[in-house]
Amino acid sequence: MIVGIDLGTTNSLVAVWRDGQAQLIKNGLGEVLTPSCISLDADGTVLVGRAAVERLQTHPELSAALFKRHMGSSRLTRLGKREFRPEELSALILKALKADAEAFLGEPVTEAIITVPAYFSDAQRKATRAAGQIAGLKVERLLNEPTAAALAYGLHQREAESRFLVFDLGGGTFDVSVLELFDGVMEVRASAGDNFLGGEDFVNGLIDAFFERLQLTAGLRKDETFMARLRAQTEAAKRLLSLQASATIQVRHGDAEHALTIDEALLEQTCAPLFKRLRLPVERALRDAGLRSSDLDSIVLAGGATRMPLVRRLVTMMFGRFPSTELDPDQVVALGAAVQAGLKARDAALNEIVMTDVAPYSLGVEVGIWLDQRSVSQGHFDPIIERNSTVPISRVKRYIPQALGQSQLDLQIYQGESRMVRDNIHLGSLSVELPNAAVQDCAVDVRFTYDVNGLLQIDATVLKTQETSGLLIQGNPGLLSEGQIAELLRAMAELKIHPRDQLENRTVLARAERLYEQLRGMEREHLGLQVLGFERMLAGQDDRVIAPGRRALSQLLDALERHSALDREPT
Ligand code: AMP
Repeated sequence: MIVGIDLGTTNSLVAVWRDGQAQLIKNGLGEVLTPSCISLDADGTVLVGRAAVERLQTHPELSAALFKRHMGSSRLTRLGKREFRPEELSALILKALKADAEAFLGEPVTEAIITVPAYFSDAQRKATRAAGQIAGLKVERLLNEPTAAALAYGLHQREAESRFLVFDLGGGTFDVSVLELFDGVMEVRASAGDNFLGGEDFVNGLIDAFFERLQLTAGLRKDETFMARLRAQTEAAKRLLSLQASATIQVRHGDAEHALTIDEALLEQTCAPLFKRLRLPVERALRDAGLRSSDLDSIVLAGGATRMPLVRRLVTMMFGRFPSTELDPDQVVALGAAVQAGLKARDAALNEIVMTDVAPYSLGVEVGIWLDQRSVSQGHFDPIIERNSTVPISRVKRYIPQALGQSQLDLQIYQGESRMVRDNIHLGSLSVELPNAAVQDCAVDVRFTYDVNGLLQIDATVLKTQETSGLLIQGNPGLLSEGQIAELLRAMAELKIHPRDQLENRTVLARAERLYEQLRGMEREHLGLQVLGFERMLAGQDDRVIAPGRRALSQLLDALERHSALDREPT
């Protein structure tokens, strides 16, 4: 069975194609959203999801979040005694989702389709693939997130001929895709985006406003526990603002109580640069697709951050019409991944849907341009595959060495849209041995092949000798070799993972610990005693006692949280 996985910056989901439809799978807590968060217990046991989110506040030094942003880099995150690569942290999320799917399906799950932002670079895609392998999953295909969202909607509108735009604002990334659907054929016409723009940035903007308006010293930012608590409170207030006119961010530091009431006007003002940045990718995707906004039949929203009324209003204004909101924006990508999984498994119900995709960046090489017979202007970018070409694609261009008697040709590979290579992203280099011959006989055919997974293969053939060198993209510190992946797979097996059937108990305890730190006086003392009581029940290992004990503790936590939420209401 192939599962579809939305590996998100803030939340991840797993879904499957079953009985002719996409179905979301619940985790051990009975929820479909698993926070993309990892934490280590005191004894080094790995906790994934909501329990880890709670511990992010009480034990920031043992917890990690937002690591999707570092995929493709070799940045290490220290949790306790061990350092983790972004691929390993992602693999832990994938492993948890795999276990959830196995519990739901009652059979082993070894294959997955994983979604990635359309704008993910080659290195980021390879890192995602590696994360799958480290989690023990064969990654059948990497699917662009907006394409997945479109697939989820495409099924509903299969009969209609339409063009639509997917506006996907998640926790950490923003993607825009223009798609066309006719006779069951779905084609991505263009995609654009911003890898560093998402819901979390709005939280950052509000945190800055909190410091600024309350005139707090910058040194407070070094207090990790305070910052983790402030982030959680700000996130909650931001979400409340999607439902009501104002909300209060309230955090205690020592004996001081800091509170700021926020409303839409403040959000709009502090995050004005972010709202502005939402326009550019939309304009570019439309331009690349050769469409005007009036040519679009509908606008599809994906990603939790599109719940913000300010974002919805901006979208409505930009396109002069209301966006479609039939599907839950948090779920569309995972549902689409399951549709693709069904497609892959050749489910009869999906046979008529064909999909094509596009290359998100232009890919090419560095060239020199002859200004006259003697001087060359160096450092120019010569695209071989143009941005938004339909993939899979293979293109070849012929290059001639600049100097007579040159013994090798150094191909520098770049991605990007700028005229000069210095403004683009360097992907790697390839040296080609040249024959000792006249310049025109040293011509080299450079072939770029970009596959449906967004992976780039480069081959250079010397015309005279017909010798071909294949490209290894070098100089990319973010990439893992097959050997390293196998090594990490072994290392993963040594990690203790918290048992799935104990997750509910552990999550309640993590939440109690977090609230305990936030409370004071009698409430705190009372909670402490209740936690102790529940820990004793757990030690007794009798499920008939544990289950009602857990429910009672949860209810107490709800009541305490409601109480502090009441404190947060504006007066
Ligand atoms: P995703 O990566 O799609 O899971 O997006 C999660 C992002 O959506 C986070 O930054 C959340 O803060 C944001 N989000 C989820 N629900 C809401 C809401 N009701 N209002 C505002 N932002 C939300």
